[in-house]
Amino acid sequence: MPFTPYHWGPALLVGLALPMLFDLPALMVASVILDVEPFFVLFFNVQGYPAHAFFHSYLGASSLALLSIGMVVSLENPLRAIMQVFRLPRKPSFRRIVFSSFIGVYLHVFLDSFLYPDLTPFYPLQGNIFVNMLPADQSSAIIYGFSGIAGILGIAVYWYRLLRESRAKEKQMKTEQEQAKKLTTSGEDNLGEEVEKKDE
Ligand SMILES: [Zn+2]
Repeated sequence: MPFTPYHWGPALLVGLALPMLFDLPALMVASVILDVEPFFVLFFNVQGYPAHAFFHSYLGASSLALLSIGMVVSLENPLRAIMQVFRLPRKPSFRRIVFSSFIGVYLHVFLDSFLYPDLTPFYPLQGNIFVNMLPADQSSAIIYGFSGIAGILGIAVYWYRLLRESRAKEKQMKTEQEQAKKLTTSGEDNLGEEVEKKDE
């Protein structure tokens, strides 16, 4: 928060570029689920609880990774339908879902660590060693910029995958047509030979 969707940039890139390692829907859900915490704090005006508290630490995020796994597993059919709309075949594997969910939440903590002083990534240890690593007036621009570029690259990978798939289909159709042609010609030749033998 307030720019939750920026987390989808890196998720899109790694999820689309490395489908053998990541389950894209699990990665997309896990990479934003943490922002339920600041949403509640800001929306209900909760006093005395920081916007980025327990669930924005690696420990708290791990518990949300488990929740995310449960959600993705139970939403199997609607998620498959959404993936089909985008012409992305999905072979759900529990191992990939678990791996993607943990990577998704940890990536969220890591990126937010550079932005929010109230965030304690290594809770119960206090403090945030990352928050002063980037120049204070540029940290948002750097993190949002990085995520935006990752997202654009992710979309480029998506288009490349669609293009590669349609080329593979075209090639397969051509091969099938050629094979069918060969079969018809050899059938005609055989028929011709048989007729010649009968004539003899
Ligand atoms: Zn966050």
